[in-house]
Amino acid sequence: MINHLCVIGVGLIGGSLSLALKKAGYVKQVTGLGRSIENLEKAKQLGVIDDYETDYAKVIPKADMIFVSVPIGAMSEVFRKIEPHLNKHSIITDGGSAKHTIIESATKILGVKVNQFVPGHPIAGTENSGAEAAFDSLYQKRRVILTPLESNSTDDVAKVSEMWNIAGAKVDEMGARHHDLVLAGTSHLPHVLAFALVDCLNNVDDVDEIFKYAAGGFRDFTRIASSDPVMWRDICVNNSEAILAMMQSYQQDLDNLKEAIHNSDSEELLKIFTNAKKARDNFCM
Ligand code: NAD
Repeated sequence: MINHLCVIGVGLIGGSLSLALKKAGYVKQVTGLGRSIENLEKAKQLGVIDDYETDYAKVIPKADMIFVSVPIGAMSEVFRKIEPHLNKHSIITDGGSAKHTIIESATKILGVKVNQFVPGHPIAGTENSGAEAAFDSLYQKRRVILTPLESNSTDDVAKVSEMWNIAGAKVDEMGARHHDLVLAGTSHLPHVLAFALVDCLNNVDDVDEIFKYAAGGFRDFTRIASSDPVMWRDICVNNSEAILAMMQSYQQDLDNLKEAIHNSDSEELLKIFTNAKKARDNFCM
């Protein structure tokens, strides 16, 4: 049970966690902490949070769980504001989509208090953002990856894990570098490709004609290109190494495909498409 949850950045990810925990009766009070009074007021009216503050000194000392769900580029600033007010019994956790650089910045800024920071990443989301996009079932049957630090206490990791279980998610643990590589392939690369495809088509001469005839396949493949550009800029900047490695490998596959199409190599084309279909059918059963 959480007495006082503080959500810093009440958008899709933080707001949905708050709603799920409130619905389960697992939290007594949720305070939203942020910069935009307009968004916080909207979040309160929608029942996403109970109250809100913009002054860290008034909330951080009282919160037993602090969930940081701001874009990755704003995490350092948030850690800097938390640090002077952090109660030694509080736990900080986050929802950032790339873990290694967040841990680096938390370690630098929180110093010895970094042992109270249990890094995490819910593998759930939509292309919508802001408090009004939050909903209580976002984490149902989804996975959350925790990338605990050596200095974390097992008790703190267990509390964060329990919180996510109550929100409906299954929790896995792995190293931060491994997380970043896995997510570069399964999430970051697909988003980069969707953004690139839409941008590419948008720059051709007959753009209106192209989008006019966009059908199911195009919509399925490019839905994620409607995601928040700031969030995705931050993810690319903060997981560049792993994303570049995945892009390189993808580029190689694209080159093979290009050659097969150029050579009208039916056998090779069928082999690539059949392998891909089999792999997708297997993991999306
Ligand atoms: P969002 O835009 O819906 O919410 C972010 C909130 O943070 C907004 O309310 C914004 O006003 C606030 N904010 C921005 N800068 C701030 C600052 N300096 N101080 C306080 N508040 C600030 O974004 P989201 O989709 O909820 O993403 C939040 C985090 O979760 C990101 O780090 C993202 O990488 C991660 N994440 C997103 C998804 C997804 O699909 N959207 C999935 C998993 C993880």
